[in-house]
Amino acid sequence: MPAAAGPAVTGDGMRIGSNGDTVTGRECAGREGAVRITALAGGIGGSRFLLGVRAALPDADITVIGNTGDDITLHGLRICPDLDTVMYTLGGGISTERGWGREAETFTVAEELAAYGVGPAWFGLGDRDLATHLVRTRMLDAGYSLTDVTAALCRRWQPGLRLLPMSDDRVETHVVVDTDQGRRAVHFQEWWLGMRAATPAQEIISLGAERARPAPGVLDALADADVVLLPPSNPVVSIGSILAVPGLRAALAATPAPVIGVSPIIGGAPVRGMADACLRAIGVATTAAAVGAHYGARRTPATGEGGGEAGTGETIDGTAGSDAIGGASGAGAGSHGAGGAGAGSHGAGGGTAGADTGGILDGWLVDTADTGAQVPGVTVKARPLLMTDIDATIGIVRAALELAGV
Ligand code: GDP
Ligand code: CA
Repeated sequence: MPAAAGPAVTGDGMRIGSNGDTVTGRECAGREGAVRITALAGGIGGSRFLLGVRAALPDADITVIGNTGDDITLHGLRICPDLDTVMYTLGGGISTERGWGREAETFTVAEELAAYGVGPAWFGLGDRDLATHLVRTRMLDAGYSLTDVTAALCRRWQPGLRLLPMSDDRVETHVVVDTDQGRRAVHFQEWWLGMRAATPAQEIISLGAERARPAPGVLDALADADVVLLPPSNPVVSIGSILAVPGLRAALAATPAPVIGVSPIIGGAPVRGMADACLRAIGVATTAAAVGAHYGARRTPATGEGGGEAGTGETIDGTAGSDAIGGASGAGAGSHGAGGAGAGSHGAGGGTAGADTGGILDGWLVDTADTGAQVPGVTVKARPLLMTDIDATIGIVRAALELAGV
């Protein structure tokens, strides 16, 4: 059993969508082996949360489905920033000061490239980090899958969890912006790092997602979990990008495990980074309640409950036939609930279109700054959500597990 404090309700005490603290009472007692936790994760926010998961549940069997939408090829090297951030953070190699890249890093190669006038200057390519990209690229070129490569890299770092890419197929987030040269799509990293997300995103597109398949083990990790956790990762370009892989959303909808999310938005702002710029692009307000409603309830709320803005997945995957993570185009940016033409169209042909557009949350943790936030059909609980140190993070994880009823 986990070290978390026991919940009030266990067994079949289902109080889904009620005011109770427990979303579902599926018990882990009696299971063979360790409690199975599956988490989706982006980079820094996801990794810090995972440190808390591992510390709170040292005996748990933890699987992480990592975002690969940030991946980019530079200088011929395949770079997977979010997978590496998880691997380095959990493996003790991260720069704690920066939150990304290696500790004790040097940038000699980057300086030499700059001296040749070879960019891009906006990507921080450290010398130690470079070795990871060299090994990865060499293995990919030799025919290994990203899943195999990630496992091989993790053999060095021993992160204490199983790190899976969301897909072995190439998926890249691109951002449509208006520039002096007209409208163009740039790689997410150019928008995020080069433009500091200051140029408004007209659309955020998950290139290749439509044809991507979940990596081996991903769907099983969701189906077989005791609890599924959504760390406070970026809802659009981290979690949203994972959900854009066909079948992932349906697997979240179908898993018997409770699905609990942690808000990355506190008091109307991201804790760090520019998630607000991403949310604006898909027409979702930068509030804990709006992000919770954007994820939506896994189960339809009782008639008459709520204001009718939740759980319909109105802005995600809303464009028929496209693989947009969400688009503000033509929908009036900022108006949550607008747009979303053809909800239910995503994943057409897969036979799971309905499940692929449904909500994904049973429980939603928000910060005490957002006490009173409501998400129809979802059990919302407020508590401090700043991951200031490991003990604070463990507290957040335990609260998520309590909400899950494990
Ligand atoms: P990235 O890929 O490196 O951008 O990292 P993620 O997508 O995993 O996480 C980014 C998100 O983490 C941001 O939107 C932040 O608001 C959120 N975040 C960072 N630190 C904290 C924290 O201490 N508490 C909470 N609740 N969210 C945080
Ligand atoms: Ca990222």
